[in-house]
Amino acid sequence: MADQKIFELQKNNPFWNPVLETLERERIRLLQLEKFKKIFQWAYDHSNFHKKLYKAAGVEPGDIKSFDDIHRIPKVEKSMMQKIQRKDPFPYGDALCVPIEEVTEFRQTSGTTGNPVYQPDTWQDWEWWSECWSYILWAQGYRPHDRVFIPFGYNIFVAFWAGHYAAEKIGCEVVPGGVLDTETRILKIQELKATAMMGTPTYMLNMAETAADKMGIDPSNLGIKRITCAGEPGASIPATKHRIESAWDALVYDHAGATEIGAWSYECQAQSGGLHVNEAFFLVEIEDIETGEIIEAPDRQGKMIITAFDRTAQPCIRFDSKDIIMWKKDPCPCGRSFRQIKGGVLGRTDDITKVKGVLLSPAAIEAVVRAIPELSNEYQVIVDKIQDHDNIELNVELMPDCVRNDKAVKTKLAKQLRLKTNLGYKIKFYDYGQLPRFSVKAKRFNDKRKKI
Ligand SMILES: [Zn+2]
Repeated sequence: MADQKIFELQKNNPFWNPVLETLERERIRLLQLEKFKKIFQWAYDHSNFHKKLYKAAGVEPGDIKSFDDIHRIPKVEKSMMQKIQRKDPFPYGDALCVPIEEVTEFRQTSGTTGNPVYQPDTWQDWEWWSECWSYILWAQGYRPHDRVFIPFGYNIFVAFWAGHYAAEKIGCEVVPGGVLDTETRILKIQELKATAMMGTPTYMLNMAETAADKMGIDPSNLGIKRITCAGEPGASIPATKHRIESAWDALVYDHAGATEIGAWSYECQAQSGGLHVNEAFFLVEIEDIETGEIIEAPDRQGKMIITAFDRTAQPCIRFDSKDIIMWKKDPCPCGRSFRQIKGGVLGRTDDITKVKGVLLSPAAIEAVVRAIPELSNEYQVIVDKIQDHDNIELNVELMPDCVRNDKAVKTKLAKQLRLKTNLGYKIKFYDYGQLPRFSVKAKRFNDKRKKI
């Protein structure tokens, strides 16, 4: 009976962890400082890679007394991890902090830039992953009565694995949609009356399109009430979020995480335009890209340097994530005291490119294309150099019933692109269905100049 009472109390609680998620700011900061010292000491004592790095910089665990001391600790870059791996203890190299027998999980990064980084986790680390994801799902309204369909090809990438375990942990019923094709997945959602789903924004749109165009099924009638998106910034781009929400008649929430880091942020049910950083588990620092100065003020973009406090096998300490983020000013109406980043992850320092001397972020183009209802969800951007001049080609698809309006759509698109990105584009229209579709993360941006 007592168990039942606790269960009822928890079910109606908006927070997965009511203590940590509403802790006063001062106490959160104290907790972060203490937890940072602990993981730093752990890495220093158990990994040659970390010890060498910190010794060379003249930093020892006893030196850390304030956040200013933390800001001075050397960062870890992905390229450093790529360099030390595939050596003993194979295949992780000397950043491994536990005996190899304690490693129970292997995942790797998707390797878009160079060799993939291998990520070992112990069973305790893996439980930590699902605990982090439990914060996300609970904040987004997942409850034990939900039947969660996970349409993702369970493989070597971490993606929704931890989402699966967390959904089980909070008491949902989980349907692993593994190696089924898109049509079979849709039929399974219909047959089982699934209520929630997780996936990349690209695939959530692709599924909706397949249901409507190939199967004659209106996805908004399938009964999906909530969707958690990750892997791409789409769910924080209002026009993309709106497209997914209206296609499925569901609430769409964003989450940003990474293989080397963990599940560090989540949008809550208030949907106030930002993602909460799980500050009980992570320290996020925002660094000015030009000066290296730490940014505390809201609304100023910089790159994220992040520490995971509780990940033990291969610690993540001041990892240079290359993600561009900024702090959000106002506290969230949901009551969480964890700070928010405004508009989610805004891009990556790798992705932002200079065209005709102007900084261009692929996310800005997506925001424009997806806000024009006459265009489909798909688009392609090709940047090239023609006779010493940068040229941007944008390929888009017209919705079948909008073909006659192509001139008006072109004018509207060109005007919005100029307004939002300060650049001119060569716009090409394709028939609906002609551009490639993607089942996980999309490759829509091709900078041919980088290959020369
Ligand atoms: Zn909130």
